[in-house]
Amino acid sequence: MRGMIKMENMPPLEEDHQFLNQTISSLTDQIDLFETFQGLSLKIVSQFNLQSIFETFSSIVHEIMRYQVADIYLLGDSMTAFDKVWPTKVASVPASDLPCDEKIIQWVMEQGRWRVVTDLQEKDADSIISVLPIKSPKRDHGFMIIQTAFTPSMYNQKIGSILEFLSSQTAIAIQNQGLYTEIKQANAFMHNMLESVTNGIMALDLEGRITLINKNATAIFGIMEKNIIGRHFEDFLNTPMKKAVRDIFSSALAGKMLPEMMLNHTPYKEVDIVVGITASMLNDREGELIGVVFSLRDMTASKEIERLTKLDQLKSEFVSNVSHELRTPLSIIKSYTEALLTQVAPDDKETREKFLSVVDSETDRLSGMVSNLLDLSRIEAGKFKLNYKKIDLPDIINSLLAIQKAEVKNIHFFTEYDEDLPLIDADKDKIHEALLNLISNSIKFSPTGGTVNVSVERKGDFLSCSVADTGIGIPQNQLGRIFEKFYRVDNSDTYEIEGTGLGLSIVKHIIESHKGHIRVESIKGKGSIFTIELPVNRGVV
Ligand code: ADP
Repeated sequence: MRGMIKMENMPPLEEDHQFLNQTISSLTDQIDLFETFQGLSLKIVSQFNLQSIFETFSSIVHEIMRYQVADIYLLGDSMTAFDKVWPTKVASVPASDLPCDEKIIQWVMEQGRWRVVTDLQEKDADSIISVLPIKSPKRDHGFMIIQTAFTPSMYNQKIGSILEFLSSQTAIAIQNQGLYTEIKQANAFMHNMLESVTNGIMALDLEGRITLINKNATAIFGIMEKNIIGRHFEDFLNTPMKKAVRDIFSSALAGKMLPEMMLNHTPYKEVDIVVGITASMLNDREGELIGVVFSLRDMTASKEIERLTKLDQLKSEFVSNVSHELRTPLSIIKSYTEALLTQVAPDDKETREKFLSVVDSETDRLSGMVSNLLDLSRIEAGKFKLNYKKIDLPDIINSLLAIQKAEVKNIHFFTEYDEDLPLIDADKDKIHEALLNLISNSIKFSPTGGTVNVSVERKGDFLSCSVADTGIGIPQNQLGRIFEKFYRVDNSDTYEIEGTGLGLSIVKHIIESHKGHIRVESIKGKGSIFTIELPVNRGVV
């Protein structure tokens, strides 16, 4: 049986117990010592400012040695100049001013150990000087010169180990501080770079959270909040911008080509800008995707320049169109009046009347053009005023058509009016001008035999008037542009037809000034319908 076995040479139980107690006590001492060292180390390395590092280091050394003086010197980059950094700062201390010989210091630095410089046997000495190197595995940082009262018993190996430990921790702290400064400088550099680029820059991590953003980006986005780092982009972008960023971001996650986008954006109330967005993937060293960087550009100015250049081009075209347009009726008037004066016999009443009516209609054409031009300049100068009266829309149309019917023989005119149409509040001359433009266009752009149908119906608070023709129509892709100033559809159908491209922009302005609307439907080769809607009562929007 196991319990019965007699163990030979076993120490008595009492001794066992004592041995165990000693071991435990020595282990506890070691743990205490370790913890003390750890605490001291933490005190030094947790400082991120050189002066606090030196202060902590020397105060601990003071606790241990009760020194009279302890100066810390750092080596400059050349390793030959000494800068005193504690307790007072003195740059480039000459070797002759050091409390001990430079060669001894060099020797101590090479040894890398704490060394007593004073001869301890010298009975007359009243103080002891020692040198403690401050070194890290990477470089020699400097040293501490310690002066204590003459108590040689204090100088033992144990103190040496503690001092060397403290100086090694100080070296690490100095090194960390250097790294910390470098990181801070690199960060500041990055930050300055980021802020100085004219584009907006924003980086997202794979979750869509902002990891970096510059001021330009927050301005373009119109973000008022501060501290948005770490927040999801969906939380604060407005809808069109959110959608654009989301589309690009999901393309990046899917490993697709990143689209470039241009969008109209309203970062703040009444501020409309055009933003160009490009993006690139952010990869780590192994090429793994870690995020997406967006670059945002306010294109408003360049778009505006583009628009102005185009406008300039359109204006020059306009000048040549207008000159041509004015010259045609003028030359007709000139030749007919010349004929009247020199060739037509005074008693040839019939020819005289025929010629005079040509002069009359060409003068109307001229005055129409001039009034368009005047309207345009009034609109541009913001001096376009309406003179509201009660007007009868069918009346205006009828009188306009009567003139056209008399002049234009090859077009069939029709009208269709709802019964009991109300009078409307509007500027008679302006509405007359708008309708004249629409009707003249439908005649001008219709081939011989075509029809022009003008109808008016009531639609709630509005009268809706349509001018429909069976003319050449307008290509679908240009429908959106015909209301622009100076814009003319440019193709073989319209080549021969004269015009300035001003009429419809003026019509639109007239109708919208009345708080009405204008729209067009058209099929190329089949015809067009221009519809205007005018509020019956002034002030109804
Ligand atoms: P203009 O008639 O002097 O060219 P407008 O501003 O009145 O200028 O019209 C702009 C353009 O719209 C015209 O040049 C023409 O191409 C197109 N357009 C206007 N009305 C019609 C229409 N009824 N049928 C076909 N095209 C039209």
